[in-house]
Amino acid sequence: AAMRESRIKKTKTVCTYCGVGCSFDVWTKDRKILKVEPQMEAPANGISTCIKGKFGWDFVNSEERLTKPLIREGDSFREAEWEEALALIEGKFREAKDTYGPDSMAFISSSKCTNEESYLMQKLARGVIGTNNVDNCSRYCQTPATVGLFRTVGYGGDSGSITDIEQAELVIVVGSNTSESHPVLATRVKRSHKLKGQKLIVSDLRKHEMADRADLFIQPRAGTDLVWLSAVTKYIVEQGWADESFLSNRVNGLDDYVKSLEKYTMEYAEQVTGLPKEMMIQVAEAVHEADTTSVLWAMGVTQHSGGSDTSTAISNLLLITGNYGKPGAGSYPLRGHNNVQGASDFGSMPDRFPGYEKVADDAVRAKYEKGWGVKIPADPGLNNHEMVSGIHAGDVKVMYLKGEDMGLVDSNLNYVHEAFEKLDFFVVQDIFLSKTAQYADVVLPAAPSFEKEGTFTNTERRIQRLYQVFEPLGDSKPDWQIIMEVANRLGAGWTYNHPSEIMAEAASLMPLYAGVTYDRLSGYNSLQWPVASDGTDSPLLFLDEFPFPDGKARLFPVEWTKPLEYEEEYDLHVNNGRLLEHFHEGNMTYKSKGITSKTPSVFLEVSPELAAERGLEDGTVVRLTSPHGSVKVPCLVTDRVKGKEVYLPMNDSDEGAINYLTSSHADKDTDTPAYKEISAKMEILKTK
Ligand code: SF4
Repeated sequence: AAMRESRIKKTKTVCTYCGVGCSFDVWTKDRKILKVEPQMEAPANGISTCIKGKFGWDFVNSEERLTKPLIREGDSFREAEWEEALALIEGKFREAKDTYGPDSMAFISSSKCTNEESYLMQKLARGVIGTNNVDNCSRYCQTPATVGLFRTVGYGGDSGSITDIEQAELVIVVGSNTSESHPVLATRVKRSHKLKGQKLIVSDLRKHEMADRADLFIQPRAGTDLVWLSAVTKYIVEQGWADESFLSNRVNGLDDYVKSLEKYTMEYAEQVTGLPKEMMIQVAEAVHEADTTSVLWAMGVTQHSGGSDTSTAISNLLLITGNYGKPGAGSYPLRGHNNVQGASDFGSMPDRFPGYEKVADDAVRAKYEKGWGVKIPADPGLNNHEMVSGIHAGDVKVMYLKGEDMGLVDSNLNYVHEAFEKLDFFVVQDIFLSKTAQYADVVLPAAPSFEKEGTFTNTERRIQRLYQVFEPLGDSKPDWQIIMEVANRLGAGWTYNHPSEIMAEAASLMPLYAGVTYDRLSGYNSLQWPVASDGTDSPLLFLDEFPFPDGKARLFPVEWTKPLEYEEEYDLHVNNGRLLEHFHEGNMTYKSKGITSKTPSVFLEVSPELAAERGLEDGTVVRLTSPHGSVKVPCLVTDRVKGKEVYLPMNDSDEGAINYLTSSHADKDTDTPAYKEISAKMEILKTK
């Protein structure tokens, strides 16, 4: 009996799905997962998790896991040993670098991988190859929010903690289906709303669960959030409700900003957004009456041609009303993947080193050149949107991508797939043979979070450690080891024995993480950046100053950008987002029986009006076609959407994949695809 029990093990880990960053103990026996047990001391979630955190782990032992390197042979792959796969990569990388130069190569890091792995990927690109062509998938979701915050308050992260959101007197949720996308965080808001009298305002195209609970639900026209936000801010200023002392002591640029608001009159806003003036005044009054307001936003804001500007407008509103630097207030862009925050924190960006220091800054570059003993180019590299067009133009020849299913999640998929086919050499590192991996020349088998150590940084800038639950399956390896082997083949001479050594090096170079050590993160301990070298961390930002030379925030004038317009025949607006049970392209959740038994497939939500007009019923199969491609899906009639607005969850990896419809149109400041700006026409394929 003692023998048998000794095989039962309890390991603390951090959820691999969303940016809330729940942590919990996993009980296992050999490779069997017995249960997931959240603990009181878990900083982001306490004893809660959602269905994904609790039941979404069967994928770890899936028979579809990659357990051997694969090498392309004609239209298929054959299994290979690591030695052969790595030798092939070494040869092709050297050849591309020598023949076409370092900038002919592109690197995609992963916001599902650990901080240490993102650090190594950009170190490989910059330090070993000599190119700044490195990016990660926050380009697809959250980079506009980061830019909006850089412009105004100087740090690209949530300004406080989940506990601040809980304490706020007023919470405004803009373009975020929080209940399904960030379930445990949504539970906190729901609880404060119900028990503590917290007010809740929701702005969305779709009447999702949070909207149902809201004190005020507003449904502006798609892509017009900046206009109502600016009209509300202007109204607040005109009523004399701005926080004068906060503005005069802590904020620059008031006059120019107020001038820029001139055109955002209530009349103009009514006309553009379709919202009645009274509703916008109600929002202004609510902000005025609350001592503390927190604004939560997500992809409904960022995935537009003006995504960065709308994020900026949110931050401007918070500055005008003094809602920064005090408990219960602030800006909360809700990070999607578990480690979206960390992937950017650790420099998987074409223009930023770890800790967001600029590549173009000579002193910063000199620091890294000295630290790594290499030369680093001064010019920013290509972002992943530019990489795709760079491949089409023949400039990018080789790509090394880890842990991203770019061939499903990027917009305008047909265009992206054509690009993959044009690459001279394509290495994909993943735990499954993803859609993207099917285009690869070499596929390297990686290990999921349960099979490695490292750290993740959640949406509230909280850095947490994960411990190894299982050994890597078959011949798969943790990403950090694979990247190190690739780098060493190219002469890097890296000698990391454990991710803690990678963190120690990173912390010595990046002030934002200066005091982060594995000891300080042991067990359920966590730190929120910036972390000073003595280990003092920062749950709430901007208490005394903003990280600009004069310590003051900046109001930043922005203009509304009209969303992409389509020809009249594309008469339906296609909104999209997550389902509670599934995660993104579904690579992990569709391989977890605990989840597929509950939610087998996706559907298109259509309004009762549209259903009546076109003769649609639950189960009617339709084809939606945009100028870029088409999808086939069954309908679900629901009053969550209205009129010609339809909603397609983004979790299908097959013929319902939303990105066959999306275009290459993008946010003008960050190249984040305007996923939310799609129109399509509909034809009925099969009635029920
Ligand atoms: Fe995981 Fe997010 Fe669910 Fe928490 S809320 S268990 S982090 S998916």
